[in-house]
Amino acid sequence: MTDAVVIGAGPAGLMAAEMLGKAGLSVTVADAMPSVGRKFLMAGKSGLNITKAEPQAAFLANYGGDMPVALKTALDQFGPDQVIAWAEGLGQHVFIGSTGRVFPSVMKASPLLRAWLARLSGFGVRIETRWRWHGWQGDALVFETPSGLQNMTPKVTILATGGASWARLGADGQWAAHLPNDVAQFEPANMGFIVNWSDHIKPHLGAPVKSVALMAGGQTSRGEFIISERGIEGGGVYMVSRAMRLGAKLTIDLKPDWPLEKVSAALRKPRGKSTLSNHLRKVLKFTPAQTALLSEFGRPFPDDLTSLIKALPVTHQGPRPIDEAISTAGGVRFDALTDNLMITHKPGVFCAGEMLDWEAPTGGYLITGCLATGALAGMQAAAFAT
Ligand SMILES: Cc1cc2nc3c(=O)[nH]c(=O)nc-3n(C[C@H](O)[C@H](O)[C@H](O)COP(=O)(O)OP(=O)(O)OC[C@H]3O[C@@H](n4cnc5c(N)ncnc54)[C@H](O)[C@@H]3O)c2cc1C
Repeated sequence: MTDAVVIGAGPAGLMAAEMLGKAGLSVTVADAMPSVGRKFLMAGKSGLNITKAEPQAAFLANYGGDMPVALKTALDQFGPDQVIAWAEGLGQHVFIGSTGRVFPSVMKASPLLRAWLARLSGFGVRIETRWRWHGWQGDALVFETPSGLQNMTPKVTILATGGASWARLGADGQWAAHLPNDVAQFEPANMGFIVNWSDHIKPHLGAPVKSVALMAGGQTSRGEFIISERGIEGGGVYMVSRAMRLGAKLTIDLKPDWPLEKVSAALRKPRGKSTLSNHLRKVLKFTPAQTALLSEFGRPFPDDLTSLIKALPVTHQGPRPIDEAISTAGGVRFDALTDNLMITHKPGVFCAGEMLDWEAPTGGYLITGCLATGALAGMQAAAFAT
C-alpha cells in the first residue's frame, strides 16, 4: 500500500510529491493524461516564466487584497527566492529579465521537468499515467486505469487536478463533480476578449501593439497585446482581464508617456496635405496598428482627437471562451479548507495548485502559486501521515 496518492502531475502535484517523498513516505502520482506536466510544458513554449523577483509585499499584492491564510502561508514559505533556489537546485540556471520576470536560461520547461522527474524517481515516487480519478467509493479513491478500475486507500491524498482551461492538456475541471459543495464556479482568468472587428482592421491582424497603456477598473497595464482575428489577447490584456471580467470598461492610452498637453500640441501642428495616418505617424510616431485602433474605436472622430488618444474606449463582446484562458478563477473555496489546505470534511485530503479558488496575473505568479501551495499541501500531508 502506498502512503500518499497525489492526483494530478502538474507543477502543484509534482511539488507535493517532492515534499512527501523527501519526508520518506511512499508516493504514487496518478494523472489522467498519457504523460505528465503537459500544461507546464506548454507554458514553456513561449518562455517559462517561473516567478517574479520583487519585494514580497509587491509580490503578494498580485494575489488579491484579502488573502486566505493558507495561500499567504504557502507564498511566505515558498516565494520567489525559494522558486529560484529550487530551479537552480535542479541544475536549471535562471535569469531575471528587465521587468523582474524570472526564466530558466533555456527558456523551455522540458529540461526542468526532466531533472525534476529524476529527483522524484530518486525519492521512489511512482508515476502512473492514464489513471483518471473518478471520486471516492467510501474512503477509497477510484481510478479508471488501462487495466480496469483501481481503488486506493492511502493515508493521505493530494488533489492537484488543475483549473478548467486548455482541457486538451488535462485540466478539464471535471473533478469538481466529486466535491459538489466545496467549489466556486470556474471563470476565465488571464484571457483575451472578443472584438467584432470591421474590415478595416484586417491588414493589422496579428500585429503587436506596444508602447500603449490599457486601463480598466483603476488598473493600468503597460504590457504588449495582439490584434487577433478573434479580438485582443496577450499579456497586456490579461493584466486587466480580471477587472474587465468584473465589468470594468477598457480604455487605451495610445500615447501614455506624453501628457495630454503635449499630445494636444503635437496634434495642432499643421497637417498640410497629409492623410490622418501620416500626420499621426509624423507628430505622434504612431504605428499603423495604433492608428487602426484609433479608427476602429474612435469614429466618428471629434474635432480634437486628444482625449480619444489618451483614453480610447474599447468596445468588446466579452471574454473568449474559458477553455482558451491561460488560467481560471474559481475552484475549491478556501472556506472549505483548513489553513493547512486540508478539506475540512475530508481529513487527510489536501488540495493544491490552480484547482484552488485564487487567481493572479501572468508573469510567474501562477506557477509560483502552484509550487507554493503544492509544497505546503505536501508538507502538511506528510505531517498528517506520520
Ligand atoms: C499557454 C500557457 C502558458 C502559460 N505560461 C505560464 C507562465 O509562463 N508562467 C506561469 O506562472 N504560468 C503560466 N501558465 C499557467 C500555468 O501553466 C498553470 O497555472 C499551472 O500549470 C497549473 O498547475 P497545476 O499543477 O495546478 O495544474 P495543471 O498543470 O493543469 O495540472 C493538473 C493535472 O491534473 C490532471 N488531472 C485533471 N483531472 C484529473 C483526474 N480526474 N484524474 C487524474 N488526473 C487529472 C491533468 O491531466 C493535469 O496533468 C500558462 C498556461 C498556459 C495555458
